[in-house]
Amino acid sequence: MLIDSHCHLASHRFQPAEIPVLLENARLAGVGRMVTLATSLHDLHPNLVIAENPVVHTCIGIHPCDVHHAPDDAVSQLSAFTADPRVCAIGETGLDYYHPAPDGWDEAVFRERQLDFLRQHFELAASAGLNIVIHTRDKTGYASFEDALSIYQKYRTVVRAVFHCFIGPWENARCVLDAGGLVSFGGVATFKNAREVRETAANCPPGSFMLETDSPYLAPEPHRGKRNEPAYVRHVADYLAAHRGESTGALERHTGETAKNFFRFRPKD
Ligand SMILES: [Zn+2]
Repeated sequence: MLIDSHCHLASHRFQPAEIPVLLENARLAGVGRMVTLATSLHDLHPNLVIAENPVVHTCIGIHPCDVHHAPDDAVSQLSAFTADPRVCAIGETGLDYYHPAPDGWDEAVFRERQLDFLRQHFELAASAGLNIVIHTRDKTGYASFEDALSIYQKYRTVVRAVFHCFIGPWENARCVLDAGGLVSFGGVATFKNAREVRETAANCPPGSFMLETDSPYLAPEPHRGKRNEPAYVRHVADYLAAHRGESTGALERHTGETAKNFFRFRPKD
């Protein structure tokens, strides 16, 4: 089953009235399930509402680019929702060293808050028995990846992590897989200049990665630069299947199984 393992359906770039159209487009493209991720306390409830749909599940977390808006107890506020059947994992959390610290924030203090929130998300995931979705991003080099990986190493026996929108070299992906984690690939893998990502994706054995859109961002070819949506995970699948030398059907099957094993997809009554 083709699954979009990472999208943001409560984004301001989607109107609530459009959601049924997006879900229908996804269905027509053969997308059987979607995971929509919260990024703050503000979009938590809109995501839960969208996840009332049987084919949509949500993750709860504070995005690293939102930690300055969040109250100090934001992660403990999330703990009230981990038993909700619409919730399938913790996230989106992580480290973002790409964007500069917001106005009035010292860079080091901002990063320390991201690190602190990431650790708290791991604690929450461990106590709830849920897995975790990690974002890392750097301007150059891999500092955010390395810092997030070393925190993950401390929790690897109790929580599994997916490093989403993975764009790093194979040696970095291998570190995640060696720790028992997963990576996921989205639209960037279809970009002309993204040879390294495709090489990484070609090296990943079945069971070690998932597919995603990260919509509304990072639309794959041939929609690059436009608003992304879950249906376009179809393009990611077609493109990566060709590069990996397997059928799209085979890729759909093993990435779908991987997602079903990673997320806790619960029936919603
Ligand atoms: Zn995201």
